[in-house]
Amino acid sequence: MSKKVFIDPGHGGSDSGAVGVNNLLEKDINLQVAKKAESLLKKQGVEVKLSRESDVYLSLDARTTMANNWKADCFVSIHCNAFDGTAKGIETYSYQSNTSDLAKKVHTQVLNTKAYTLNRGLKTASFYILKYTTMRACLMEMAFIDNVEDSKILTQRQDDLALGIAKGVCDYLGIEYKPDTETPPVNPPVVDSDTFYRVVCGSFNSKVYAEERLEELKKLGFDDAFITVFQKGSN
Ligand SMILES: [Zn+2]
Repeated sequence: MSKKVFIDPGHGGSDSGAVGVNNLLEKDINLQVAKKAESLLKKQGVEVKLSRESDVYLSLDARTTMANNWKADCFVSIHCNAFDGTAKGIETYSYQSNTSDLAKKVHTQVLNTKAYTLNRGLKTASFYILKYTTMRACLMEMAFIDNVEDSKILTQRQDDLALGIAKGVCDYLGIEYKPDTETPPVNPPVVDSDTFYRVVCGSFNSKVYAEERLEELKKLGFDDAFITVFQKGSN
């Protein structure tokens, strides 16, 4: 049986969450990162359910009930912090310090991606979703959406944030995280054995210049580069 991970992008619909720099909305960032984490986890063979897959409002009770009924193995809630524009950094919450193993692993793996400005550490809080979930749960405040520097992390480092979350969850579940295996190109290049394509990188009417260019190419590792001679008008 594959493991089941419940990811909860905070807020949604009429509840935008915090409003940040350039009117960034927390609900949107949360959903974008959640979807990226979902796709990474599915590639690791983990079953994933999101509390919401679009911009809809859900009560906290609806979120915990959904996860409890689905019998998730763990629950990760994704949020952005906000204060007065000057505060920044990442922090991750669990209900109590003796249930912080999931929080610790997810937090550590996001730190490893370097997608943060300041490590505010692990914290405890009796947030509804941490208290009323029946499985291990953590809530990550990825960065401060109202801080200029942090908001860039939330918009430009989403892949890293999602990767850290996915790796942390895998750590917690005892699953070895396998890096993305390269998918073969859909249309492999056509090989026509009778036609050759010569790559030209300069034509000079001085042999000295040509030899200088050849030397540059060899220095770059193009060992099979060579000079051909042709007369003006013949090619
Ligand atoms: Zn929030």
